[in-house]
Amino acid sequence: MRAPAGYPLPVHVTFYGTRGSCPCSGAGYRKYGGNTPCVALEADATPLLIMDLGTGLRALGEVLDRQLHRQGKPLEATALLTHLHFDHIMGLPFFRPLQDPGAIIDVYGPSQENMTLQEVMKSVVQPPFFPIEMSEFRGELRFLDTADDDLVVGNAKIRSRTVPHRGHTLGFRIEADSKTVVYLPDHQAPLDRQEVSDAVLELCEGADVLIHDAQYTDEEFTEKHDWGHSTVPYAIRVAADAGVRRLVLFHHDPAHSDRDIDRMVSTARKLPDARRLADITAAYEGMTIELGS
Ligand SMILES: [Zn+2]
Ligand SMILES: [Zn+2]
Repeated sequence: MRAPAGYPLPVHVTFYGTRGSCPCSGAGYRKYGGNTPCVALEADATPLLIMDLGTGLRALGEVLDRQLHRQGKPLEATALLTHLHFDHIMGLPFFRPLQDPGAIIDVYGPSQENMTLQEVMKSVVQPPFFPIEMSEFRGELRFLDTADDDLVVGNAKIRSRTVPHRGHTLGFRIEADSKTVVYLPDHQAPLDRQEVSDAVLELCEGADVLIHDAQYTDEEFTEKHDWGHSTVPYAIRVAADAGVRRLVLFHHDPAHSDRDIDRMVSTARKLPDARRLADITAAYEGMTIELGS
């Protein structure tokens, strides 16, 4: 995390969890990491934006904790929660800054049928699933039910749109300091992997960076075509059709080792659609993207 300064700083995007579905560890996961989705975005005069609350959130909490102690003040942050699958919420109770009195985290995310976002989260973070209730955190969580909305947080304009996946799921477009970052970690590709939905195109149009679901190879998709995810070639198709500059492959399948992901990236870079993009990389834990003016 950067120290505050008296002049505008570039937008920074840092990856704390890049794995989809289920956390994993072992020799085969050292390069890309095994924590589930959590990405931090820092922009000038804007509270820290945290995309998803997967197990990567615990590591982000440790980094923030040191910074907050130096500054002697509790955390103020905004979380953008795409949906409520376990891999996207599991880190919340382990987020150390939530233990500080005065900490405030606004959480924008989708509600469920007949239940508010707050009610759903309370029902998960409580015994017997977790030792304590959410109300026992000393910091405050403010849940804001979100659908297709246009929000302003600090200097950032944030657009949320419902995207194809299993269950009510959002994608987010964040515009700050004249830079655009789009976060679409879970996105069901259509059966023919050709068409791109209007909502997704609206989110992604002309983005500097697109962080996109890249869970499967074409072969895997044949077997798992309705499991809610995309292939690497489809992620490239979305980025190319929307005029994105830089594609970051994300939500790596737990069955994919570092070598598998390396192979998927090098195959992806040879696809015809890839020539329409400036860059394709696979997200790894600790990776930071700096978007200068
Ligand atoms: Zn997921
Ligand atoms: Zn999901």
